[in-house]
Amino acid sequence: MNVLKVFQKYSSRMRRTYLCGQYFGVDRLQHVGTHAQQGKNVDCYRLETSSAKTMMDIGTRQIFSEEHDLFRKSVRRFFQEEVMPHHTEWEKAGQVSREVWEKAGECGLLGVFTPEEHGGLGGDLLSAAVVWEEQMYSNCSGPGFSLHSDIVMPYISHYGSNTQIEKFIPPMVAGKCIGAIAMTEPGAGSDLQGVKTYAKRDGNDWILNGNKVFITNGWMSDLVIVVAVTNREARTAAHGISLFLVENGMKGFQKGRKLEKIGLKAQDTAELFFEDVRLPGDALLGEVNRGFYYLMNELPQERLLIAIMAIASCEFMFEETRNYVMQRKAFGKTIAHLQTVQHKLAELKTEICVGRAFIDTCLQLHALRRLDSSTASMAKYWTSELQNKVATQCLQMHGGWGYMWEYPIAKAFADSRVQPIYGGTNEIMKELIARTIVGQQ
Ligand SMILES: Cc1cc2nc3c(=O)[nH]c(=O)nc-3n(C[C@H](O)[C@H](O)[C@H](O)COP(=O)(O)OP(=O)(O)OC[C@H]3O[C@@H](n4cnc5c(N)ncnc54)[C@H](O)[C@@H]3O)c2cc1C
Repeated sequence: MNVLKVFQKYSSRMRRTYLCGQYFGVDRLQHVGTHAQQGKNVDCYRLETSSAKTMMDIGTRQIFSEEHDLFRKSVRRFFQEEVMPHHTEWEKAGQVSREVWEKAGECGLLGVFTPEEHGGLGGDLLSAAVVWEEQMYSNCSGPGFSLHSDIVMPYISHYGSNTQIEKFIPPMVAGKCIGAIAMTEPGAGSDLQGVKTYAKRDGNDWILNGNKVFITNGWMSDLVIVVAVTNREARTAAHGISLFLVENGMKGFQKGRKLEKIGLKAQDTAELFFEDVRLPGDALLGEVNRGFYYLMNELPQERLLIAIMAIASCEFMFEETRNYVMQRKAFGKTIAHLQTVQHKLAELKTEICVGRAFIDTCLQLHALRRLDSSTASMAKYWTSELQNKVATQCLQMHGGWGYMWEYPIAKAFADSRVQPIYGGTNEIMKELIARTIVGQQ
């Protein structure tokens, strides 16, 4: 049955989203994965990655259903048709186009996991994960869709007022308002309580001063969640931090340069400056001085997202390398004939499949709202280390060609390096994990 026919069954309630020549229903998306969310296996005959023909096969993994597969096909096609052909040009520009954001909005790739009553698409977590994974399978790191949809939007959805939700979520879902979150400062990264950006009350308004660095989507952002100190006398720094919604174009809000990075070349990571920016009272997100608490609440999803993207990148790099060694010849045979190469592939495949099993469990736990911070930290730390190991070894199997930017493995290698750094460094992840091991003594 073709995709259109499947969805026509649901057409009475369906807002249809045009997806690259096919239709995917938003209401349909809301049905997707409810079994998985309830912890039931939809189809116990679905192959796990270890037994599948390739690690990126559609129709595998028990946590997903056939409906996820249909959605995945559409998302894959979006990245193949709307992102991959432009990525080299975007790498040179240091940013993607506005057009691709709007197309992603039209095609139903943004705000998938944001509740419908807040203006999102109301899909399940697994559908959002499909978008994260497919981006890694396309090896195109430019569009900051995942941060926008599943790191920034949840803050507005969880802590925003009705007015804020109504104002920002619909244009974000449409790709017309690009979101960013600004925590890090030149002098404060891991130690978030050390931020100096300060918002001072002035009647009903706030006056914001400070600067931020390394902000994903920063250059293109229309809306930035800014972490700022609001009470310098609080009993701990964590008790005096708040979040603000700062909009592009506000007087005193300046964007610095797009930062030149060793990877993520098409990602517009930027510096942001705030000089006496007057914010209306309703720019405060949630309650005053509760910002640190909100950040701690939302970080497990950010870490899971990084972990999922890490393992998907491993799968991509593995398949890329498998194809390469089956074609590349040395000493009269393909290098896939060499036992050293075969053993290396066997080791990598085993480790990736072990990681995949843990990550799929984490996904299910998070869908049930049972993923704790320590487990999310384990996932982020372990998979991002694995990603770098896989990147190094897969590049090695490509020889000198692997060092050439035109080869996908070179980009995947460069993009991998940041994964153990952002979202909390892996050293910080180990601190968090260790606290639950010995912290209660
Ligand atoms: C490409 C990119 C995109 C990013 N996107 C964003 C974004 O969108 N928004 C945002 O707010 N930030 C973003 N960041 C910032 C990122 O989260 C920080 O770089 C990260 O948290 C580390 O902070 P830092 O760079 O200040 O390093 P530091 O905190 O200075 O750390 C330096 C080293 O010391 C170690 N260290 C520090 N404290 C401890 C400790 N207690 N125990 C053990 N080791 C420790 C660290 O692990 C690290 O190895 C991004 C960064 C990059 C590179």
